[in-house]
Amino acid sequence: MKRLIEGLQKFQEGYFSSHRDLFEQLSHGQHPRILFICCSDSRVDPNLITQSEVGDLFVIRNAGNIIPPYGAANGGEGAAMEYALVALGINQIIVCGHSHCGAMKGLLKLNSLQEKMPLVYDWLKHTEATRRLVLDNYEHLEGEELVEIMVAENILTQLKNLQTYPAVHSLLHKGNLSLHGWIYRIESGQVLAYDGVLHDFVAPQSRLSYLEPEFNLHPNCPLTSYNSFKVPGSQPPGAMPSPQPSQGKLSALPGFSHLPMEQAERIYRGSR
Ligand SMILES: [Zn+2]
Repeated sequence: MKRLIEGLQKFQEGYFSSHRDLFEQLSHGQHPRILFICCSDSRVDPNLITQSEVGDLFVIRNAGNIIPPYGAANGGEGAAMEYALVALGINQIIVCGHSHCGAMKGLLKLNSLQEKMPLVYDWLKHTEATRRLVLDNYEHLEGEELVEIMVAENILTQLKNLQTYPAVHSLLHKGNLSLHGWIYRIESGQVLAYDGVLHDFVAPQSRLSYLEPEFNLHPNCPLTSYNSFKVPGSQPPGAMPSPQPSQGKLSALPGFSHLPMEQAERIYRGSR
């Protein structure tokens, strides 16, 4: 606690003092352009990994970066998301999972949590679809590989859950919203972004020259039909190698075409 209180003073005398204009501007209102949904894990810091400024990201955090399907829970997630889209006019959502996620490890042994941590059990049940999909389709994996797959598939589950919300559904129909899935690797600091065309998580900077201008789930989202992920060293039988992204030129960063260029660059630059 002492360290935190000393930190408050250091913040006021250091960062705050040197960014007075920014904070003065923010005192009149917020205009974040990204809704960032990530895990509560202390090792994941959205602003740090994207090198974004205060005011850039509207953040929802919980155990396992879970968005319960519409109507399944009366929690803060739906309300925060609705506010972000309707009141703040945000049109980019990132669901960011991470390696070594305790929530995903818990999901793998869900029933054993019921007695010891009933609230965690109830919460993780909101992503039962992830657990069922992984257990039924990745029987050949175990240990860390299974956790990695759980993290990746859980991100895709949440991207689908997002689409059950009326506000998201409507914006996608208009083509005014794009959804993104990211994995943050704690051990390397690297971020991988889901590529709906390749059905794989790839380095976001590799998509800067990708022909597809934006991964937008509407209307022909490849997400609705896909095969199992490949895990290094455990190729499922009959699996084909991933195609390489085509080379091309883009005037805007993929998935960030609605952002001021400086802000978009800062967010992507941070994940390199
Ligand atoms: Zn986590």
